[in-house]
Amino acid sequence: MKLLDGISLAKKIRDDLKKRVALLKGRKPGIAFLLIGEHPASHTYVTMKKKRCEEVGIFSKVLPLPVSISEKELIQTIERLNQEETIDGILVQQPLPSHLSTAHVVESIDPNKDVDGFHPLNMGKLLLGEEGGFVPCTPLGILKLLEEAKIELQGKHVVIVGRSNIVGKPLAALLVQKKAHRNATVTLAHSYTKDLASLCRSGDILVAAMGKPLLIKKEMVKPHAVVIDVGINKMETQKGLQIVGDVDFAQVSEVASYITPVPGGVGPMTIAMLLSNTLASYQKIS
Ligand code: NAD
Repeated sequence: MKLLDGISLAKKIRDDLKKRVALLKGRKPGIAFLLIGEHPASHTYVTMKKKRCEEVGIFSKVLPLPVSISEKELIQTIERLNQEETIDGILVQQPLPSHLSTAHVVESIDPNKDVDGFHPLNMGKLLLGEEGGFVPCTPLGILKLLEEAKIELQGKHVVIVGRSNIVGKPLAALLVQKKAHRNATVTLAHSYTKDLASLCRSGDILVAAMGKPLLIKKEMVKPHAVVIDVGINKMETQKGLQIVGDVDFAQVSEVASYITPVPGGVGPMTIAMLLSNTLASYQKIS
């Protein structure tokens, strides 16, 4: 079994971005984070993303907004950022409070500054296989991990468990594309899928993105399969409260050919791809 090490690949990508940013004349790329309410995990993620921006020389600002903000006020804030010349990327940290429509909010972001890749125009480009849009960061990070390890996708059966708009669906669209080093056969599974275990066992590559701690067990994995664990779950263990994935790493690493650890697999790649999308946006806009 080999580890797909997201920490070292993400560092390599950040080092490269840092060099490219240092060569830029004039203003640096900029990103705005909109942080609504007091969601503790969202605060942690935004703090981490801001820190990584600083490391590579990307300007960032966090706009903390009250949980009571109306949809109109939030959209007005986004529209102002759409016009700001120093801002290349706008990220609205999800989940949003329930009185706000995620669709309305995401659709108000200028697609050219939608570095999360969640705007319908960018999602549409991804589905159509058109170049020039932003690809969501977690799926893009997973693709980079697979590419770095030279894992062949063509004709392989990829089973993705989880059909969210931020992970499962865009990842399926990315891997199924008719393109060199893609061309996978993709199955999207979800909470209504029947006989999940045998479906998972048919995957040459298995991606777990459910948010269900340690649900994927050894007997659900094809011998020598590549296993990508997207899940980030807090779980009480013998060692206290720990972050665990959706895959039972101890068991599954006995049968998998490659596996991502949690933490240290997909998570760091997601942030590296955000930085990469922000620089790409700067280069498009400037
Ligand atoms: P979500 O809650 O929006 O979607 C979960 C999906 O899993 C749904 O499609 C649901 O149908 C499916 N599902 C749930 N239980 C299932 C079951 N028992 N069997 C089969 N399918 C099941 O979640 P999300 O936002 O896509 O996130 C999923 C996980 O990935 C979470 O743990 C989240 O924290 C993590 N995540 C990690 C990163 C990263 O960078 N590593 C990025 C995004 C999300």
